[in-house]
Amino acid sequence: MRIAHHIVELVGNTPLVELTSVVPAGSATVAAKIEYLNPGGSAKDRIALKMVEEAEKSGALKPGGTIIEPTSGNTGVGLALVAQQRGYRCIFVCPDKVSEDKRNTMRAYGAEVHVCPTAVPPEHPDSYYSVSDRLVREIDGGWKPDQYSNPAGPQSHYETTGPEIWADTDGKITHFVAGVGTGGTITGAGRYLKEVSDGRVKVIGVDPEGSVYSGGSGRPYLVEGVGEDFWPSAYDPEIPDEIIAVSDADSFDMTRRLAREEALLVGGSCGMAVVAALEVAEREGPDALVVVLLPDGGRGYLSKIFNDDWMSSYGFLRTPLDSHTDRPDV
Ligand code: PMP
Repeated sequence: MRIAHHIVELVGNTPLVELTSVVPAGSATVAAKIEYLNPGGSAKDRIALKMVEEAEKSGALKPGGTIIEPTSGNTGVGLALVAQQRGYRCIFVCPDKVSEDKRNTMRAYGAEVHVCPTAVPPEHPDSYYSVSDRLVREIDGGWKPDQYSNPAGPQSHYETTGPEIWADTDGKITHFVAGVGTGGTITGAGRYLKEVSDGRVKVIGVDPEGSVYSGGSGRPYLVEGVGEDFWPSAYDPEIPDEIIAVSDADSFDMTRRLAREEALLVGGSCGMAVVAALEVAEREGPDALVVVLLPDGGRGYLSKIFNDDWMSSYGFLRTPLDSHTDRPDV
């Protein structure tokens, strides 16, 4: 019988699916890796599991300990799943701009959520960085994974995401495209794919216009989970051969097209990554095989990217959701 003993055992081994509608004629084959099929709904389940395993091994996290992380979403959910399996307490600290739905999702898994004011600088004692550091000091058995500096993050992608892509493409992948947030995905999976192919596979990082990876100075941009205003140590800048910057408008428009034309309800960083993947696919032509990683699902963005009023308020709206102009006779 194939019965998992806990949902955490089902992290990873996500499928590849070819994008057909959004890819222009004459382009490379583009295959999307569907990370929302992880149990917690994102690629972050992978790093959560590995960070906890390594902390258990090193003794940084002891039985009955408390996981404390400043996070507002996917990493929190991943950590909460693993914590529940292993009996740890979870405290997540997030700024008050994080939606009620996201806070409730983390609470639903049993985590405690501390909300801090957004409008204070990071060094302020009430900032979510300061509060999480204080809790780690004050709580006996407290451990902060710190996904931005924890080497277990990229390592998880080196051990799982990269090998899965290599195996599922029979080693025929030519280009790997992924968004860059902490940098863990591109660093780990990219390093594996370069090593296993003797440097043949090209690695392309994608970030929002304005973020440091593509030469910007920081914010502002609206796509969530990617781009930074500092250089995290989870990111190895030697791995990507190229960084492509994508605007919020193009990222969100492609995100909506993925739902409508490919039946992939995914998040905004997925649309962003696909815009870059299509640029690579057009440039490289039909002999290439481009794999693009789609980190999470679209349910968490229904009131933003999939809401015409929100899209219009930023001037992003190109095709209203209920417009049928591209479909004859409906
Ligand atoms: N997309 C989303 C929605 C994310 O939450 C993240 C993680 N911050 C990323 C992309 C980028 O992944 P990484 O942190 O591995 O660079």
